[in-house]
This record gives sequence, C-alpha cells and structure tokens, in this order.
Amino acid sequence: MASALVRVGLRENNTPVAVRGQGVYVFDNTGKRYLDGSGGALIVTIGHGVAEIGEAVAAQMKKLSYVFRAHFSNEPAEELAQMLVSEMPVGFSRVLFTSSGSEAVEAAIKAARQYHHERGDHGRHKIISRLDSYHGVTLGAMSATGMHAMKDAGSWRPLQIPVRHINTVRCDDCPFHLKYPSCQTFCATELERAIIEEGPGSVAAFIAEPSRGEEPPPDYWPTIREICDRYGVLLIADEVACGLWRTGRAYCVDHWNIVPDLLTFGKATASGYAPLAGLAMSDKVLDALVNGSGVFLHGHTHSANPMSCAAGLAVQRHVRANGLDRGVAGRGEILDQALRRVVAKHEICVATSGLGLLRQLALRPPRGTNLTIASLVLEALSMRFGLISQYWKAGDRVGFQLAPPYIISDSQILELEERLDRIIPAFAGWLAANRTS
Ligand code: PMP
Repeated sequence: MASALVRVGLRENNTPVAVRGQGVYVFDNTGKRYLDGSGGALIVTIGHGVAEIGEAVAAQMKKLSYVFRAHFSNEPAEELAQMLVSEMPVGFSRVLFTSSGSEAVEAAIKAARQYHHERGDHGRHKIISRLDSYHGVTLGAMSATGMHAMKDAGSWRPLQIPVRHINTVRCDDCPFHLKYPSCQTFCATELERAIIEEGPGSVAAFIAEPSRGEEPPPDYWPTIREICDRYGVLLIADEVACGLWRTGRAYCVDHWNIVPDLLTFGKATASGYAPLAGLAMSDKVLDALVNGSGVFLHGHTHSANPMSCAAGLAVQRHVRANGLDRGVAGRGEILDQALRRVVAKHEICVATSGLGLLRQLALRPPRGTNLTIASLVLEALSMRFGLISQYWKAGDRVGFQLAPPYIISDSQILELEERLDRIIPAFAGWLAANRTS
C-alpha cells in the first residue's frame, strides 16, 4: 500500500517500516534487524524497548495527561528540571521545556535578543554561528544553521534573522590550512573579526555546538568565551545533540570548563521515548529579564507536557541508576579504537574524531564526486547492510555520524565495525563504477 506520509524525497515510497526496538536494535516489518549506530537522530541513549519508561508514561497518562504551562506547573516537569539543573554548569537554575530542539534554539535566540533589550541595548539583533552547523528547521533556527545547501533546497531565503557565519573548528581538515598550535586557534579568533566587522553593538549572540564529533583544541572554547565577554555577546551552547552525557560529561561544555549564557538540550533528555528538549537560562540572562519587563512571553502548547516530562524523568533516573552516564567515556574509547581500525583498513577513510559516544568517521571520495549524491548512497548502503547512522559532508569529505545508545556492549561495537567493513568497500565500489561530478 502506498504510504500517506510526506518524506524528504517526495517521490520516495520505500522507506522501511519499523515495528519494534530492543536494546541497540530496531526491527522492520520484514523482520530485518538494524544496529542503531546513531541512536536514530543522535537521540537514543538507554536503548529501545525499556519497559519501565512505558510504565512511567502510562501511569502519568492515567494520573494527569495535560495541563497548560500558563495555568499549572506539574510534578514530573518540576522534578526533571531540578535533576537537569543540578548537573548544569554553575549559574544555571531554570529551564524551559520544549518539544523539539528547533523550538529550544528559537527560544534561545529570542531570550538573547530580549536580554540586550531589557538592558537598554536595543541594537543587538544579529546572530553569529558556524558554517556546516545544524540548529534546526524552524525559520529562526534555520537562519542560524550553517548548512547553506539546506536553506537553498527549498528556496527558503530570505530567512528571518541576520546571521553571519564563521568557519568551524576542524583541526584534521583545517579550513584555513593551518596547523595547531602555530595557528594560534585562528578559527576561534575569527569570531572577534566577525563581531568587529558586523559592529559589536549589533550582535546579540554566538551560537554553536560544543562538539558534533570534532575535538576542538583545548583553548578553542575558552577563547570563544573570552571574545564573547569582551564584546558583550551572549554565548549560546547548542547541546541538543551533545548534552546529557553523550560526550562523556554531563554537558559538553564541561570538557573545557566554560559556562555559556544560554544552553539548549534535547535528544538525550527522553531518549526518544517522548518529544522533549529545552532551554536553560543562566542567572545572568534570567536576572536581566526578571529585572526588566519580568516576562518571557514565549512557550508552546506542549511546553513541559506532563507525559513527555514523565518519560524524561524515567529516562534520567534509569541512566543514573544503571551508571550509564559514567559509562559513556569508557564506551566511547572502545568505539574510538574500533573506528581507528576502520580508518586503517580502508584507504578511502581519512580520519575519525569525537568525544564519548559522539563520533565522526570521515571518507574522502575522489575529486569531482558529487558529495550530495555520495552521502545519499552511503545512507542507502548502510540501511542495506543493517546499520542506522547519520551522514555529513564538509569540504571534500563525507562521513558517518555515529552516536550509539550508551548501553552498546563491546561485542556490539565489534558488530558495528564489521558492518562498516562491509559498507565502506561497497561505497568505494559504487564510487568506482559511478564517477559523479
Ligand atoms: N540543534 C542541534 C545541535 C541538533 O542536532 C538538532 C537536531 N538534529 C536541532 C538543534 C534541532 O532539533 P529538532 O530536530 O528536535 O528540532
């Protein structure tokens, strides 16, 4: 039967239909088993099919399924918020729950603009972000997103917010062709040059993901923090993908001991058991809003939805009770070793990088290859060989974005390696047979 769902590829009608998930595996309606190498969209942490989460959500549904946040707070939202802020960097004491990361980013951009306005600084409306970054699909979040091909695909320009993009940090493929440390972290100081060119009085915030599988040099984030402070620009850490232990620390910024002004979180919050994300505001931002107009007129019908929060709370309890949070760093090292072996085995692989269980594997196809087509082929081959992954392209590279559930075992990491060992030669074979340009 033809599907009635809208898909990215509007002419496609052959996406497999998933029917069941168990641990690190997803099964489709033909019985085929897929290893979830990326936790879907970097989201699944505790694994699929954990019964206690369903039980917690069902209990909440029976007790109280919905109240609107302007009328009531609710118990799971209160408890989850406390749990999350207790692990956040110093100076964060409140969160606003949303249903998606894009909504969290929208809220962050609006809070940043309002912060300046409340302090009488009315000209700061611009955002600076990084090329190749992803911050969401709503028009504001997409304005911040640095993947230009995505914006062009739907002819969605002009976008809503004036955004300036700077280069991202990529030491193994430096966009400036420099080497660390003699480069003096040129990619970080590019932020200062951009702020000066735009006019410091017009820039509200710099938004970036602390890591999406890159390993910034140790002084990258401290330098960024210093530059933001020097020019009164707020720092938004978009931790929708990298927050909540994904990189081995509670929040990714903890790797460099820096404290952002606004912090978005998302995917790991409810591990995919319910739509849940959010924005954490530092006291610095919150105080300006409280002492100014005293309102933040922003929220959605489903902000702090009791069932989503019940799922989030049950997931976070499960993570801690089973030591999954503390286990990520060790799991990540084993995955790193496996990916290094993959790089050594296949000529087309050029690098692997990452922190904890958020890792990238980079492939360099022959010059002239159409990388958009190549990444689609990589995706199709992975699905054929039963591996769920995400894909990226930057410069002359395409790659796998890997972020398996925190429960992945040693033998399942070997299984992931074995699947890559089959997908990559098939991809190289496809490239040889179909020179795209
Ligand atoms: N920010 C980051 C860093 C993300 O990875 C994503 C999702 N991939 C988003 C924002 C948007 O989140 P959502 O898809 O839930 O809207």
